[in-house]
Amino acid sequence: MDDRELLYHSAHILLPQMGIEGVERVRGAHVLVIGAGGLGSVVATYLARSGIGRLTLADNDTVSASNLPRQILYTPEDIGTPKVVAAAGALARCAPGEIAVHGERLAGQALVQAVRHADLVCDASDNFATRFAVNAACVREGVPLVSAAVIRFEGQLLVVDPGTPQAGCYRCLYGDDFSADEERCAERGVFAPAAGVMGSLQALAALKMIAGIEEPLARALLVFDGLAQASHTIGRKRDPDCPVCGSAAA
Ligand SMILES: [Zn+2]
Repeated sequence: MDDRELLYHSAHILLPQMGIEGVERVRGAHVLVIGAGGLGSVVATYLARSGIGRLTLADNDTVSASNLPRQILYTPEDIGTPKVVAAAGALARCAPGEIAVHGERLAGQALVQAVRHADLVCDASDNFATRFAVNAACVREGVPLVSAAVIRFEGQLLVVDPGTPQAGCYRCLYGDDFSADEERCAERGVFAPAAGVMGSLQALAALKMIAGIEEPLARALLVFDGLAQASHTIGRKRDPDCPVCGSAAA
């Protein structure tokens, strides 16, 4: 790092858990963020500004007026613009690293390819089908996953780490009975700052993992309740019958 870069990263370099080594790890990392909505706006902003070497953002939606209270990458001028286009412009203005985008919905082989090229994946999508597909691709490719969700005043966050297989994966936790419970922000509402809290916690977990700082959410699920201003963690363990990470999957 030159003097300008050392100054830029000085607040992180001063942290004993980070130091120059941790910052260099962040600068050398490639993170894939899936979803550029309320969670994605926040997690991508912190990752990009913290100096992630290459940030790839995937989303196939366009900006609408109802997004603006919580999707803080966008302005009213972006309405009607593909989110990845508006987001890449906003992030490029503040990110020392490289920004890349996927404007199509990542599924099947394209999703597996995108995951394979990343050092870590942040799932900031808004539906169960995507979350299950991203989880399966990450487990298959052995890429760490930080998965966040927010609805109403509530949020959840977990890490699926190939180094902690005994804690299982997203599928172990939620089973396969998800279609009936499908809830989206557009239908159920979401409190804007709750998305900000969860996106920040997601960035916190992702940056810690990249820097090599221990992340307890690799073994637990964090549940946040914005009405109660409280959060707690629940221990997780692998379901031996999980079709994604269980014994039968191998
Ligand atoms: Zn599993």
